[in-house]
Amino acid sequence: MFSDYLKRDYSIPVQFLENAIKQSKLANSYILISRNQEDSYLFATELAKILNCQKNSFSKPCNECLNCKWIEKNEHPHAFIKVTPDEKSKKGQVKVEEVRELINELSKSTDCYRVVYFPDSDMNTLPAECCNLMLKTVEESPAKLIFIFGNKSKNNILPTILSRSQLIYLNKIISGSILPLNTDKTNIDLFSSSISESLDKANLIKETLENNEIELKEFLTTIAIEKYEDLKYSNQRSYSRLYRELTKAQGKLKAFMQPRIVIEDLCLGLIT
Ligand SMILES: [Zn+2]
Repeated sequence: MFSDYLKRDYSIPVQFLENAIKQSKLANSYILISRNQEDSYLFATELAKILNCQKNSFSKPCNECLNCKWIEKNEHPHAFIKVTPDEKSKKGQVKVEEVRELINELSKSTDCYRVVYFPDSDMNTLPAECCNLMLKTVEESPAKLIFIFGNKSKNNILPTILSRSQLIYLNKIISGSILPLNTDKTNIDLFSSSISESLDKANLIKETLENNEIELKEFLTTIAIEKYEDLKYSNQRSYSRLYRELTKAQGKLKAFMQPRIVIEDLCLGLIT
């Protein structure tokens, strides 16, 4: 489905999204975390093409049909909407008026699968007023509508948007990294307060990895990357403990221990 370039550099996010497309389980809203905004944009446009290609709908886009060409040039009237800050505004923010118009536009029906992309959606660019206007649409979005928020870091996104979106980390250095679990459901907080809670988490992780065909090794790396920023400065005790357990888990994997046991051990090691 996605291009060879994205497949090669972001194998896990690509696999994750392709599975969601195949199973018709795309979320209403995604946040793509990446320092590389061009690649975020590429993800959004390729997704729009996959969903709207007139020749190969829901598979590899042809790049030749009208929909593909329009999306490529960001000229499609419905299938791909890029919302950028108002050029005249001194603050460099998206205008509230524009968001109002957008919501109005989205309430109209179309045959297209619409992808709405915000290239830079931190709180400076996309103020709370705009986000609040969109909340209802993001939460109860009409069928065939997906919001994609591009962002450099998880830390400056409005919490109300964050809680309604699925987080995807695009990390080039380590061949793709993603939070494959909905943050709402699991909060990817591996710490538990009881044995039964930790075993529940282990099961959930196991199922998610299996359903999305994600390697445990890549999952461990993902956790390490994601938790780094969050914990390093805010909670050093949890930070060092998590990293100790992750290192142990990596070692067990290398020693060919069964993934199921590695996950259970990891979760059991993080009971507080
Ligand atoms: Zn096409």
